[in-house]
Amino acid sequence: MSKEQPVRGESTRAVHDGEERNKFARSLTNPIAQTATFVFENLDEFADYKAGKLKHFEYGRYGNPTVRTAERKLAALEGGEEALLFPSGMSAVTTVLLAMLRQGQHVVFMEDCYRRTVQFCNLIQKFGVESTAVPPGDWEALEAAVRPSTRILFAESPTNPHLHVVDLIRLVPFARERRLKVLIDSTFATPVNQRPLEFGVDLVIHSATKYLGGHNDLMAGSVCGGASIVAAIKDFRNVIGSVVDPQSAYLLIRGLKTLALRVERQNQTALHMARFLEQHPKIERVYYPGLPSHPDHKVAAQQLRGFGGVVSFDVAGDLERTRQFVHALRLPYLAPSLGGVESLVSHPATISYYDMAVEDRRAIGIKDQLVRYSVGIEDEGELLADLAQALAGV
Ligand code: PLP
Repeated sequence: MSKEQPVRGESTRAVHDGEERNKFARSLTNPIAQTATFVFENLDEFADYKAGKLKHFEYGRYGNPTVRTAERKLAALEGGEEALLFPSGMSAVTTVLLAMLRQGQHVVFMEDCYRRTVQFCNLIQKFGVESTAVPPGDWEALEAAVRPSTRILFAESPTNPHLHVVDLIRLVPFARERRLKVLIDSTFATPVNQRPLEFGVDLVIHSATKYLGGHNDLMAGSVCGGASIVAAIKDFRNVIGSVVDPQSAYLLIRGLKTLALRVERQNQTALHMARFLEQHPKIERVYYPGLPSHPDHKVAAQQLRGFGGVVSFDVAGDLERTRQFVHALRLPYLAPSLGGVESLVSHPATISYYDMAVEDRRAIGIKDQLVRYSVGIEDEGELLADLAQALAGV
C-alpha cells in the first residue's frame, strides 16, 4: 500500500528488465522471433523440456521469446510475479474471466467499466455465470450485490470517460473478508501512476493498445499478478489460443521503454489542460481526478502518483456547439482510442455510444456535450492554444 518507488527506478526497469543482456548476434535491441514453432535436437531434448530440466520454447501458441520478454518487462513494471500478453485488451478481459469463472458462479463489476467489458459481463450469463453491475463508489450497492457464489470483483480505475477512481485501500479488505478476487483494469493509470498489486489487488489488466504501447500502432492486452493464478490463466490461454504476435510484442517492448517519460509528460499537460478548461466560460464542467472539484480527488491524491493523461469535459451548450468545437480543433485527431503520443479527441455520444438510446446514454452521464481528450506528447502551449482557438470559435 505504499506509494514508494522500489529500489530500481521504473525507467531503469522499463529499459532493462525482462531482457537478456546478451542477445541474439549481440544485437542491442530485442530480436523478433518471427516463428510459429521451435526445433528440438532429438526426443530426449523434448522429454527434458517437458520435465522442466531444459528451458526451451515449443510452439507459438504456448510461448515465444519476444512475447516472453514483453511479459517479463510488464511484470517488472507492475511489480507482479508474472504477466501474460493477449492480442487485445478485450482478449485479456474475456480470457481472464472465462479462465476464472465457471457455471453457477457470480461476478460483480462496476457499471462504468469499458463498454465492451460491461457487454461481456452480461454476455457471460449465457454460459451460466451470473453478473451484477454496481454504480461506482456505491458501497451499499456493492455490499448488496455480493452473494455466496460471488468470486470476482471487477473494476476499472480511473474509469472512462468520467475518470472515477476506485478506493483500493477500502476495496481490497472488503473483498478479502468475502473471499473475492479483485481484478482492476488499470489501463488509464499505467504502472507509472498506480501499481494496484501493491494495494493487494489480485490481478491487473491493461489494454496495452493504449499507454503501454503508447504509439497508436499496436493492439495488445495484458494481465499481471501472482505466479499461480497467472499460470492457471496461461493454461487456459494455451487452449483458447488468444496469443499476441511477435511483431506487436516487439513494438510493446519498444513502447514500454519510454512509458515513464510519456506518462509523466501526459500527466503534467493534462493537469494544466484541466485547470485551463475549468476556468473557461465556454466549459460547463471538467472531469479530471487531479482537480479538487472531482468527486474522487481525495482518493486520487492519496493513491495515484499522477492523475493521468485523459481529460473529459462538458462544453457549455448543445450537441451542435460541441460538434463545432470538436471540428475546430486542429492538433488532436478525431479517433476512438487514447494513451498514445498523438493527442486524440473523442465525442463519446457519437463515437462510443452511437447505438445506445439517447435517454439511456444520458442516464449514465454521456451527455451530448461531453468530450474526451487524450493528451499526447505535443508541446503543452500549442495544445492549450489550439483549445483556446477552438472554444473562441463556438
Ligand atoms: N479497457 C479499457 C479501459 C479500455 O479503454 C479499452 C479500449 O478502449 C479496453 C479495455 C479494450 O482494449 P482493446 O481495445 O485493446 O481490446
